[in-house]
Order: sequence, then structure tokens, then C-alpha cells
Amino acid sequence: MPSGADVSSAAGTALIELAGIERVFMLGDSRVRALASVDLRIDAGEYVAVMGPSGSGKSTLLNVLGLLDRPDAGTYRFEGRDVTTLDANAQAHVRAHRIGFVFQSFHLVPRLTAAENIALPMVLAGVAARERAERVKQALRDFGLNDRSDHRPDQLSGGQRQRVAIARATVMRPALLLADEPTGNLDRATGDEVVRLLEALNAQGVTLVVVTHDKALGDRARRRVGMEDGAVRSDVAQPGAADTPAARDPSSIEPAAG
Ligand code: ADP
Ligand code: MG
Repeated sequence: MPSGADVSSAAGTALIELAGIERVFMLGDSRVRALASVDLRIDAGEYVAVMGPSGSGKSTLLNVLGLLDRPDAGTYRFEGRDVTTLDANAQAHVRAHRIGFVFQSFHLVPRLTAAENIALPMVLAGVAARERAERVKQALRDFGLNDRSDHRPDQLSGGQRQRVAIARATVMRPALLLADEPTGNLDRATGDEVVRLLEALNAQGVTLVVVTHDKALGDRARRRVGMEDGAVRSDVAQPGAADTPAARDPSSIEPAAG
């Protein structure tokens, strides 16, 4: 913490508490320690960039945080509850209702339209059709996709696909939004626009954790966690880094042409 801030009194409500997290993969005869004794606390509302070289465990960490993967040892508390010991169904429920995930390669369902992709998490969560239609309409508006509602992913640009993916990831109003190299497949201008969208969502209250090896992007986050060989090697506060006009006023963001 810079400027001698009193961590105890400044601390908010913990959203994520990792203690002694281990994840080991076997590759042939060799044992890869993808996560090694990771302790990490992230409070509700934070904006964290996770950085580090390729193979340092960033995606593995995000997958554990998103309950897409189970650690081999250690404890993960999410919203104060130990989720490490939950069975697959209970984990799926937490994931569906509290966590959104955005990937580098979008992961949209090819045969579904933009509107249907956005509706998917609500279908899985059993949200009534009428409510679904309302929320899809709102999301299409919020993300500048009104005129792309009936387009399939292959009829959309990269930026539009990632906007659909972000709309899908947030339509259930999750507490946590995880993004793994969300700008990795986009040009700089389109990537910047996607970052501003994510930051606007964070400004509205969602906790944002972004994996990136783009230094410019990492510098924008209010906290930067550095990984190496599966371990957290640095953890730096960057106060005010994302205090941009767009972050203060999300409605000022206009989708770029891409
Ligand atoms: P990063 O996202 O930082 O590039 P990853 O989390 O993808 O790193 O990978 C961390 C390490 O774990 C790497 O050595 C990688 O090869 C290994 N790894 C990740 N996933 C698997 C897997 N499913 N099977 C085997 N090894 C894996
Ligand atoms: Mg990765």
C-alpha cells in the first residue's frame, strides 16, 4: 500500500479469498505446478490486472476463480463461503448467478444469434421468457448492438463479438467479471473500446479481474498482480489509474465502428 495507508481500516468486503491454492498438471512424466501456494484476497468492487509471462499460471488462476477448474489443494472462499468443497451442481449455480467470464476468443455459440447468445445464461438459470426478452433488449441497447440482434457470430466483427460476449457475461448481473486476454484478438482501437466497457461495468460495481500481457492495459487497473511460475510475485496498488471520464460516466462510451 502506498502512502502508509492503514490496510486494516481501508479494507472493504472480501469477495475472493484464496489460501494456499495449488494446481498441478501432469504433462507426460513431468509435473507442472501451474499454481503454487497462491494466497490472494480481492475485495468487492476492485479492478485488478493479472500480468506475467506466458505459462505463468494466469489462465489457471482465472479458471479457478471462475469455478471452471478445481484446485488440488488450498481453500477458495467466494462471498465468504468456502466454494472449494461444493459439488459440481452447487458450483455451477454460483457460477451461473455470480460470475461472468469473457475469453480472448469470445466463445460465442456459432449457430445462435447475438440476442440468443446473450439470453443463454438466463435460459440456463431458468429466468422467465418475458424477463429474458426485456433484459436482452436492454443489453443490446447498453452495448450498442441494437442493429445486430439477429446476426450470428460469423456475421459480426471482432469488437461486436466481444461486446456480445460481455453482454452475455453480465446479463445475470454477476458480482465478479473475469476476463482472460479480452483484447488479445482485437486491434488497438477496438481493444480500447472493450476495455472502457469493462471499466464502465466496474464503475457500476462489478468486481473486475483482467488477465493481460498488455502493459498499457495493466497500467490502467487500480491494482496489478504479477505472476511467475504459478506464484504471485508482486501485488501493487495503482491508485486512480482508471479514473477516466469514461469510468466516471459509463454512458459517455460510444461503441467504435469495429
Ligand atoms: P498463462 O495463462 O499465464 O499463459 P496457464 O495458466 O495457461 O498460463 O498455464 C500455466 C502452466 O500450466 C503452463 O506450464 C501450462 O503449460 C500448464 N497447463 C495449463 N493448463 C494445462 C492443462 N490442462 N494440462 C497440462 N498443463 C497445463
Ligand atoms: Mg493464458
